[in-house]
Amino acid sequence: MISGPGGVGKGTVVTRLREHLPDLELSRSWTTRDRRPGEDADAYVFVDRDRFVAHRDRGGFLEWNELPSNGQLYGTPVPDGSLADELLLEIELNGARQVKQRFPDAVLIFVVPPSTEDLERRLRGRGDDEESVVRRMRLGLQELAEGPALADHIVVNDEADRAAAEVADIIGSRRKRRADSGA
Ligand code: 5GP
Repeated sequence: MISGPGGVGKGTVVTRLREHLPDLELSRSWTTRDRRPGEDADAYVFVDRDRFVAHRDRGGFLEWNELPSNGQLYGTPVPDGSLADELLLEIELNGARQVKQRFPDAVLIFVVPPSTEDLERRLRGRGDDEESVVRRMRLGLQELAEGPALADHIVVNDEADRAAAEVADIIGSRRKRRADSGA
């Protein structure tokens, strides 16, 4: 799992990471939020609330959460393949916590900004109104306080290419460790 506060640049790190590790399988989340202008149609499975809740109630998600910053639901569908296979999830911290509880072997890479000022600058750079910047910043600071205790690795996103290379190294050494242990 890759997690980290909103605005830290997880999405860019994951895009670059896939250039390092093209065979890495990425989970496609479901969400009730609207697709953003210019956003890939397959960035998420975009559904309405009724469909999301029905899928959740059938046990269709590994984890799900309602994001306090926008009131929308997000969830990781139960994968088709074996759960022992490798799968990358890009999710927020509450979801990562649920996955860790269900699958203690799951690895959490927590992406942090070089400083809280940097995070605020990035959030402001998105052009959102002041109220939502303040709300996201408050949530981000909470995630920054809670994340390290849950994380297996912490990566500073000072530069997306460098951070992606570090994440690729972590995954490489985890794969090696897993292969050596015969798991
Ligand atoms: P956005 O709406 O900006 O795409 O995503 C908002 C937040 O939801 C991000 O922190 C993202 O990592 C998180 N997120 C995306 N998919 C999932 C998911 O399936 N489960 C959870 N818990 N969080 C998700």
